[in-house]
Amino acid sequence: MARIVQKYGGTSVGDVDRIKIVAARIKATRDEGNEVVVVLSARAGVTNELIARAKGLCANPSERELDQLLAIGEQESIALMAMALHGIGVPAVSYTGAQAGIFTDTEHTKAKIKMVDPTPVLGDLTQGTIVIVAGFQGIDDEGQITTLGRGGSDLTAVALAAAIKADRCEIYTDVDGVYTADPRVVKSARKLSEISYDEMLELASAGSKVMQSRSVEFAKKYGVVFEVRSSFNHNPGTLVKEEVAYMEQVVVRGIAADKDQAKVVVSDIPDKPGSAARVFRALADAGVIVDMIVQNVGRHGVANLTFTVPHADTARAVRALEPVLVGIGGGQVAVHERIAKLSVVGVGMKTHSGVAAALFQALADVGINIDLISTSEIKISVAVALDRADEAVRAVHAAFGLDKV
Ligand code: ADP
Ligand code: ASP
Ligand code: MG
Repeated sequence: MARIVQKYGGTSVGDVDRIKIVAARIKATRDEGNEVVVVLSARAGVTNELIARAKGLCANPSERELDQLLAIGEQESIALMAMALHGIGVPAVSYTGAQAGIFTDTEHTKAKIKMVDPTPVLGDLTQGTIVIVAGFQGIDDEGQITTLGRGGSDLTAVALAAAIKADRCEIYTDVDGVYTADPRVVKSARKLSEISYDEMLELASAGSKVMQSRSVEFAKKYGVVFEVRSSFNHNPGTLVKEEVAYMEQVVVRGIAADKDQAKVVVSDIPDKPGSAARVFRALADAGVIVDMIVQNVGRHGVANLTFTVPHADTARAVRALEPVLVGIGGGQVAVHERIAKLSVVGVGMKTHSGVAAALFQALADVGINIDLISTSEIKISVAVALDRADEAVRAVHAAFGLDKV
């Protein structure tokens, strides 16, 4: 007997037929003698629809009210799944995040899990009941409903797996696993049989939406090995786990693209100590996450700073910067066209050189201009024009020999 957490994403529970198929799968897992905890997302599209409805009523909806609203998407899924299981004679109970003991901080729309009290879930498991938990939500110390950021059901699954000491954590989605690039963009992408936490984390934070990045961080911290696999077939998926020495033999494990970035240029600011500190302090205080940064060489006493921010944060960034520029004695802020960030990721970069050169050459060969560059130990990112992003990913994928042979 094993204790298993299974998380099913939005497409996997997208309609009544899909719910029935997943219910049968859960039943089969239980029939093999296992204890099963199920984490569900909202039906595909529901969270986006709810956000659009909120914004139709109020340009800047309160984050508390947004959480109240968004939590219902997952609640629909869990109640229907419990009913589907009852319909085929399987004991099951559905729990909201709060009922399942998922305690978070108070940061509405992007709350962090502080603690999971496994008591209610463990109690049901010992009775042979399947526990179905609403993903993406929790409760703060004041009893307010919180949500865990987009894609946050992955985090619910990993956190529950850690809390109940599950033997297996399975993330079911609409592709067979983690691929060398988004298989919807690169037809020749290959499924990876395994990937290290660090690589998965870099891919996720660079825009591969197959896993939420915070869930991978959590899994690494608590040593939760998990498998990403499809709910549409029985193919083996991708194991995400601690790095092992042989993983470094592969230089580039995968490629990610983030198409939700915008470029901000702050020009003609006084080229003196403290200018950059004040610019980025203002952005940090406004909660804007800055990614790639370039500062040119100062001339005539002024300098330019160029950086990327999530596209949704551009207005907030400009609002935060305008008063600062007055304070430091000059400068203008301009938001440029949306851009895409392409990243190549691999733990092998720690021990191999030449990755940047090969990346730049691959883009040069197809005539794609590089706007900004940033690197970390196991990742190189470049900003390119949004309308050429997919082409860039395909060219780089082929250049690093990641295509199916
Ligand atoms: P779910 O609703 O199951 O959480 P998501 O839509 O959040 O599913 O994530 C799955 C999607 O992630 C896939 O449909 C795929 O298009 C996309 N994706 C992006 N990069 C990758 C990758 N490297 N490997 C697999 N899927 C990827
Ligand atoms: N329903 C939420 C979202 O769309 C959470 C999730 O699917 O993981 O972001
Ligand atoms: Mg997801």
